[in-house]
Amino acid sequence: MRPNPAPYLEVVFDIPLNRVYTYAMDSNGAGRLGKRARVSFGRRGDMLGYIIGETAHAPPAGVAVKPVRRIVDEEPVFGERELDLARWVAGYYLCALGQALAAMIPSGKRPGASSFPVEIDGEIAGGTPELSAEQEAALEAVTAPQAGSRLFYLYGITGSGKTEVFLRAADRILHEGKSVLYLVPEIALTRQTAEAVKERFGPTASVIHSALSPNARLTEWARIQRGEARVVVGPRSAVFAPARDLGLVIIDEEHDGSYKSGSTPRYHARQVAMRRCAREGARLVMGSATPSAEAWKLMGEGAITRLTLTRRLSGGSVPEVRLVKLHGADSCFTKELREEIRKTALMGKQTILFLNRRGFGSFFYCEKCDCTLTCRRCSVSLTYHKNRERAVCHYCGYQIKAPKVCPKCGSVAVGYANFGTELIEEEARETFPDLRICRADTDSVAGKGSLERTMDSFRAGGFDILLGTQMVAKGLNFPGVRLVGVVLADTGLCMPDFRAAERVFSLIVQVAGRSGRYFPDGKVVVQTLRPKDPVIISACNLDVAGFFDAELKARKALSFPPYTRLIKFTVRSKSAEQAEAAADALADRAGALLPAGADMLGPSECPIGVIAGNHRRQILLRGPEMGALHRAATELARDHESRKENGVYLEVDVDPVSLL
Ligand code: ADP
Ligand code: ZN
Ligand code: ZN
Repeated sequence: MRPNPAPYLEVVFDIPLNRVYTYAMDSNGAGRLGKRARVSFGRRGDMLGYIIGETAHAPPAGVAVKPVRRIVDEEPVFGERELDLARWVAGYYLCALGQALAAMIPSGKRPGASSFPVEIDGEIAGGTPELSAEQEAALEAVTAPQAGSRLFYLYGITGSGKTEVFLRAADRILHEGKSVLYLVPEIALTRQTAEAVKERFGPTASVIHSALSPNARLTEWARIQRGEARVVVGPRSAVFAPARDLGLVIIDEEHDGSYKSGSTPRYHARQVAMRRCAREGARLVMGSATPSAEAWKLMGEGAITRLTLTRRLSGGSVPEVRLVKLHGADSCFTKELREEIRKTALMGKQTILFLNRRGFGSFFYCEKCDCTLTCRRCSVSLTYHKNRERAVCHYCGYQIKAPKVCPKCGSVAVGYANFGTELIEEEARETFPDLRICRADTDSVAGKGSLERTMDSFRAGGFDILLGTQMVAKGLNFPGVRLVGVVLADTGLCMPDFRAAERVFSLIVQVAGRSGRYFPDGKVVVQTLRPKDPVIISACNLDVAGFFDAELKARKALSFPPYTRLIKFTVRSKSAEQAEAAADALADRAGALLPAGADMLGPSECPIGVIAGNHRRQILLRGPEMGALHRAATELARDHESRKENGVYLEVDVDPVSLL
């Protein structure tokens, strides 16, 4: 028998070490690129690895080569295309190749049988509405054979028929024999879209949702690999689906925060989609009523083709949005909001109260003049630290003694407000003891299933008031809801993050847009301590263009994205001194590596300074373009790795979305 020309396997692991390990092929020569294998690995013993190649080169003398213990997969779970994408993810988001593969590929086991029952839910629908002229134009642009542009944006209020255009575009691409990825924010909350896709495309569709077991996910993955499923609907991870002949990627609700991963690799589905589309010759179409600042800027420059849908096709009207001034921080409910809640309950209808994602620190307010405390250099809100009596900028470390009179008008009617979700819930229960109240946010809802149950029960009329965070806004399809209240818009505005205004604006517009769709006589009440704040005013007027005119000017003036790019380095340690020393050392080296035109913010304590006993400090690298900044960051991360200190961990976030 001829010797195997490539008797060694190159294996990577889901660990933060960017190294390729060599193992010997097992006796029958099985085991090839794209399969997973169980191997023994150092002190950890048995580990799952990803086989990324074969090689004839033995490792250097002295390194013992162990055989793989077992090949897990009969068929490869990834191919060259996925490997190429994983390499890009690892390079761009500065993680190990094994970590990128682990994020992409479902962790389940494939069932032995090779055929899977295909479940067909009902008829493939024939009855689709005739498109409006605007929809028709958008569809033609997106699917034109010789598209000049490959990036499109369907910009239009909720109910303007974006989903219908997405479905038609998907249908055309399928007829060309190509595949489609259809990304949605939170599948649990967007079941409607998933159902519509299933209904229209039958067994050609693959719906990936959070309730699928790892094995079921891998089954879907295999159907996509084989080309059986050619329309994939799912949340951000669906951007990695092994679709063949990719023709189109759809990103619904492009502005949504859930498209950015919160753990390594911290990828953004939009960024990955853009890379895939460029590489695989596909088109990208995004959609939202409230685009991200990044997308808005690119549309203005013509890099993304804007397709506007101006008309509501479903009937209904845009509801009245009322701005109400909250007096002081003693109560979460104004008279107006209390009365509207009462009136709504008397009508037998329901109320949704929006709280902020999470209460964050305390912020300053002046009863008289709407003054805010912001950092002079970064313009983000200063956070009040009660124990130190100081107001602190968490970007650059700037701090002042917390004022007891308003620095602008001299009034002593000032205070520090902090409305956490618990507090609001407590007050709601006290104020409306006879109403049935439920809460849906990530803290109070243990699993995704129970969130769904809460929502279903609310939809069925089991509660009068739903207290929810932003995540509820996406699933606002509740026919019984008449009133939507934003309890305190300012909480969001005072988050120490340069995107604070964008988030609050987007939330209010989304909420308002939805309410007019499903309940024509809908009411929206927005409570604020600062009724003259331009962000809140433009949100209540649903003035997207007006908001971005001002917002983009401010971002440009302060050199924040989308006019610059950021890479965040967070250092954490159980020891505060170690964290501080490591962040200082990192900052020193960063200073030497930074390219021309780039700068560094920090080192400073993270806005959330301690999590689970870990002290956290951060530096932000900022530059006019990603290329040079990224090279510096890569160098910095590598350098840190080589000097690795016990008990100090580094987290790198390229294009960070949250700066908490
Ligand atoms: P969006 O995705 O922009 O929120 P949808 O595509 O869900 O909007 O459309 C909103 C409603 O309008 C849906 O009930 C949809 O069936 C309906 N609709 C969409 N396009 C048309 C059309 N061309 N004619 C009539 N109704 C339409
Ligand atoms: Zn004042
Ligand atoms: Zn600052």
